[in-house]
Amino acid sequence: MLHKWLLSSLALAAIASAHESSFEVRRSHALLRRQSTPSNAADAAKIYGIEQECTQYGDDNLTKMITDKQLPEASQIATIVDGDSEAQQVWKDIQSSGIIPSSVKVKTGTSGNMGIDPTAQSSYDKSDPDCWWTFNRCTEPKSDNIPTDISSCPEPSTWGLTFDDGPNCSHNEFYDYLQQQKLRATMFYIGTNIVNHPYQAQRVIADGHDVCVHTWSHHYMTTLSNEQVFAELYYTGKIIKAVLGVTPRCWRPPFGDVDDRVRAIAAGLGMRTILWQQDTNDWELGSGQATKDQIEGWYTNIINKASNESPIVLTHEISNATMSMFESQAPNIQKAYKNVVPLTACLNVTNPYPEDITYPDFKAFTSGTLDPKNKPDIASVKVDASATYSPVALSKQTQSGSYMSPGSGSGSSDSSGSSSSSSSGSGSNSNSSSSAFKIGAISAYATAITLASMAVVFL
Ligand SMILES: [Zn+2]
Repeated sequence: MLHKWLLSSLALAAIASAHESSFEVRRSHALLRRQSTPSNAADAAKIYGIEQECTQYGDDNLTKMITDKQLPEASQIATIVDGDSEAQQVWKDIQSSGIIPSSVKVKTGTSGNMGIDPTAQSSYDKSDPDCWWTFNRCTEPKSDNIPTDISSCPEPSTWGLTFDDGPNCSHNEFYDYLQQQKLRATMFYIGTNIVNHPYQAQRVIADGHDVCVHTWSHHYMTTLSNEQVFAELYYTGKIIKAVLGVTPRCWRPPFGDVDDRVRAIAAGLGMRTILWQQDTNDWELGSGQATKDQIEGWYTNIINKASNESPIVLTHEISNATMSMFESQAPNIQKAYKNVVPLTACLNVTNPYPEDITYPDFKAFTSGTLDPKNKPDIASVKVDASATYSPVALSKQTQSGSYMSPGSGSGSSDSSGSSSSSSSGSGSNSNSSSSAFKIGAISAYATAITLASMAVVFL
């Protein structure tokens, strides 16, 4: 009897042992499945690994916004949603304000507005009447009532830290890294990516970074109609307000593609145009366009300018490769540049949003105050489907410490005296390696960004 019991015990133990590893695997998969359907931003911030982080989930409040047709289709060029009378009214007001220059024509796009027709550039008036950045890096608008684009920091030896194309679903390790290194950055978010990853988006504000608009669907803005330009910016502003609780007052054109018509519509929506003075071209990682060595070389070129430039630098959270590349370069950047700062500190913009959240100015930030006052906790950031998005035109923004009225000089947090163009540097964005002139690179970028969204679909 005993023998029999022992045998069966041993047999069970043996069976258990033989299956232990697969049992463990099944168990951990079950755990991962549970982990990878987070119900809030705090849960989502604890998930690691691309597959787990990028597993799709739904937020009830955001789903309600989508089913109520408060937002355009994800990944499509935005237009005003049928029946959206609020958006219609804002659009009407911008049109009747007279800010949109009628002389600037829509540029001819290619590849579904993911490129510019080369003849559109070759046949364009060489005097650049539209201040078309893609044509010659123009940042000083020629139309009235549009502020200068911002592309550099006023303080010496300062690197303006910006990342485009987020939120990337698998950015937790990277955002942890920024926290550990006491770095804060300005993130340019794509509306569609916020729809797909609202909890990842919420981490940006809880971590003390600041956020600007990077359009709804990431197309060449000068190739879109007035209403499409409006909708691309308006709905990205609206989703940032609903998901993050703040009203963004800055934006960056995808590919840098902006002219006075597009700038004017952005200004009507209260968004200051931000470009860059230096481009790492990091998005070419993995696209076949450039090797890792080449991109490291481009980083090094910018790092070597620390004694004579204070560029706002274009980098991306488009993939884990670009995020890792920044991590590997950050020690060199911090060694060469005296300051590595987000745009809020770079420009003394203490009030990037009209809401009650105040960011440290340059002096406070570089003295060690990294986080804004009234920064929401990650556990408290919730999607508010009924949030009111009320953009105010740049010309009507009077709050001190805003993008239209930044504090002046190092350490001054008051808004007296700083003109809107004082922080735009020389305006000569002469990075010859930038991709915007390389028409061939455009489709590679389109592929990279499409692959990034496909990864979301398939994972
Ligand atoms: Zn982009």
